[in-house]
Amino acid sequence: MPDHSHHHIDRNWQRRASCRGTDTEVFFSPDGERGRVRAQREHTAKLICQDCPVLTECRAHALTAESHGIWGGMSESERARHTRRTRHAAARPRERVPASNSSPLRIRTPTA
Ligand code: SF4
Repeated sequence: MPDHSHHHIDRNWQRRASCRGTDTEVFFSPDGERGRVRAQREHTAKLICQDCPVLTECRAHALTAESHGIWGGMSESERARHTRRTRHAAARPRERVPASNSSPLRIRTPTA
């Protein structure tokens, strides 16, 4: 697991992380890394995340607190895109049902 011990928050889940003890360079890009090299490194990191027992906790944490590196099987750009989509969905006004589509209950009255 990349060493993030400089963060002073409760992260008990990290003790069960598949990346614990893994070289941090797999999860964080060096300056200037691009293209195929970057894609390969990210792929390697995501393979480690894939079966991680704390992927859900890691991802939830990263979506609110981490702007760099692979966390919870997502890259920084994937997390940013996810956050944008979530915000847009939350800001979108709720769909209204057009009046013509509303279907009032029909109550059958028995005929004699
Ligand atoms: S999901 Fe990935 S980055 Fe997160 S703890 Fe597991 S292996 Fe590490």
